[in-house]
Amino acid sequence: MNLILFGPPGAGKGTQADFLNKKYGFAKLSTGDMLRAAVAAGSPLGLQAKEIMAKGQLVSDDIMIGLIRARIQEPDCTKGFILDGFPRTVAQAEALDQMLMAEKKRLDHVIELQVNDSELTQRICGRFSCKKCTAGYHDTFKRPLKDGVCDECGSTEFSRREDDNASTVAKRLDAYHAQTAPLLPYYDKENVLISIDGMADIEIVTRQIEEIIGGAGKLAAN
Ligand code: AMP
Repeated sequence: MNLILFGPPGAGKGTQADFLNKKYGFAKLSTGDMLRAAVAAGSPLGLQAKEIMAKGQLVSDDIMIGLIRARIQEPDCTKGFILDGFPRTVAQAEALDQMLMAEKKRLDHVIELQVNDSELTQRICGRFSCKKCTAGYHDTFKRPLKDGVCDECGSTEFSRREDDNASTVAKRLDAYHAQTAPLLPYYDKENVLISIDGMADIEIVTRQIEEIIGGAGKLAAN
């Protein structure tokens, strides 16, 4: 099962991809996570990407396509993968189609999580995560049960993404509408696009995704 979780920043793609990764074993391929790891490692890619990300712009298609091309050939993708944050431009989508064809793989579903811009800004600006286990929290919507302590692993260290501030979020949303949203008709034409309400509770969104990938649930249960 190969999926794209599609939608603007803050739509919940990462949360749902984590869930599908844990439950079904599909590899989670988050280009944002890959770039943040490169930035943290101070690699040449990280140095190049850091400023672009801080400005809320998109890293070049060549770099992103190269990252995904290498990643989908890794053994953990054999069972399936979930793309989170890729493709973000028509050129990336076309390159993905070509690499999937070369690998004799196909896209099963592109699931769009629809959330309006004001909700997105609110969601993104309050979010933070555990430094140790990456569990996600929010200042208003999901505080840790005990203030300052991670529910999942007990760690007391948290971090916020540098680009999760109001001015960068506005630019990231502009980039989404101008460069990424045009992919919706692209995937609609390929008959793989399904749109769901990403404003619903996390569990309801999860249930809808599981209904869409129904066969995978049965597969994993066997
Ligand atoms: P994300 O974690 O998906 O919100 O991505 C964080 C930032 O990484 C974006 O604002 C972009 O600067 C960069 N980025 C992630 N994925 C891509 C991509 N597929 N193409 C271009 N830039 C990307």
